Amino acid sequence: MIVVEDLHKHFGGFHAVDGASLSIAEGSITGLIGPNGAGKTTLFNVIAGVLPPTSGRVTMKGEDITGLPPHELFDKGLLRTFQIAHEFSSMTVRENLMMVPGGQTGETLWNTWFHRARIREEEATLLKRADEVLEFLTIDHLKDEKAGNLSGGQKKLLELGRTMMVDAKIVFLDEVGAGVNRTLLNTIGDAIIRLNKERGYTFVVIEHDMDFIDRLCDPVICMAEGKVLAEGTLAEIKANEHVIEAYLGT
Ligand code: ADP
Repeated sequence: MIVVEDLHKHFGGFHAVDGASLSIAEGSITGLIGPNGAGKTTLFNVIAGVLPPTSGRVTMKGEDITGLPPHELFDKGLLRTFQIAHEFSSMTVRENLMMVPGGQTGETLWNTWFHRARIREEEATLLKRADEVLEFLTIDHLKDEKAGNLSGGQKKLLELGRTMMVDAKIVFLDEVGAGVNRTLLNTIGDAIIRLNKERGYTFVVIEHDMDFIDRLCDPVICMAEGKVLAEGTLAEIKANEHVIEAYLGT
């Protein structure tokens, strides 16, 4: 679904991504692991259009998407989750879901005046969709809670929920497990597996928790020093001498 060819991202003289090549299979939950500073987040940001690449190519189903801005990738169903921005923290969980862009009619003054009925209809659809998402993620009891009051894991579920408000095809998740307790991490894992199986989402997940990776991800790609070191099942990756060296060397 995604092919990355010889991707480079330099910050001044520093090569954060240094010739990374990899493929993401449609329908997979691919894990991306590697020591701190390996270039995983930078790679995500370049694929998702947040950072322009220095050189290299990214294609999605054969179409060149290198350097496209996030909103164009969004329209193609490629999403990268982000932490809930500060300005959304005082809005409720349900309002946060309803804020996801989707070409609502109520954007211009003209529409506001002349298409009130249509706007109400769209709002009702959004509301219904938001409630379905909350139920799917088992956080419907939090719908009126302010997003800023959620725990780290609940915020991650909300981030995942926002991808469900649009027709996502491939979702890039950065560090799902950081500061999240085991029970919620399992709930997040369940949601990812269900979205993958029931809705056909492809996922790419950066995660340090190896139990989580082991439960969800096949294949696993290991990066170090801006390059892809190895790809395979987690067991294969763990047995790879280059991988062991990269982790021991940090
Ligand atoms: P990972 O996600 O694998 O921990 P990152 O992609 O976050 O790795 O970082 C890779 C390297 O690039 C790190 O050494 C980091 O300090 C550096 N880096 C990341 N972003 C920037 C930036 N905006 N400017 C300069 N260096 C950066």
